Amino acid sequence: MYEGAVQDLIDELGRLPGVGPKSAQRIAFHLLAADAADVRRLADALLEVKARVRFCEICGNVAEAERCRICSDPRRSDEVICVVEEPKDVVAVERTREFRGRYHVLGGAINPIENVGPDDLRIKELLTRLADGRVQEVILATDPNVEGEATATYLARLIGPMAITVSRLASGLPVGGDLEYADEVTLGRAFEGRRVVGR
Ligand SMILES: [Zn+2]
Repeated sequence: MYEGAVQDLIDELGRLPGVGPKSAQRIAFHLLAADAADVRRLADALLEVKARVRFCEICGNVAEAERCRICSDPRRSDEVICVVEEPKDVVAVERTREFRGRYHVLGGAINPIENVGPDDLRIKELLTRLADGRVQEVILATDPNVEGEATATYLARLIGPMAITVSRLASGLPVGGDLEYADEVTLGRAFEGRRVVGR
């Protein structure tokens, strides 16, 4: 539709999640009109994140070293692991200040329609972490939607035979939603009111 570079940019932007063709076009023309310095800052941020950020070897959260900030914090409890879908959910739970344990980031949720099965998630890594007997409770904080519930049910069944309490966040979270969109008061209450679903 457009010539060379502009169309390339629109195509690349259009490949991002949640960016449709119209938004891609709008962002492209916004960038065209923006100051060169602003665009450079954005380009640098994109390159920086790819060069410096990786996934924590223990929990799968984003990290700038082999281990993330939370896994390397000696003041946090090793006895409780909060299982979430994505790194952004760690941020959401941290905002509540209700939780002082560790995290495990699955990298998504079971979703047969999108062809995401248990083997595509960091479930094996979770079981390895649970094997040494230090963890007393696993809090399943997957999203309150169909995929999140299916994932929580699957994990509860898997962890059930181990001597570990499995709990699920209390209802009150907007159903069908995304953990990150819950405000911190609601999410904090859901944490406090979590119910035991296994053991
Ligand atoms: Zn970590």
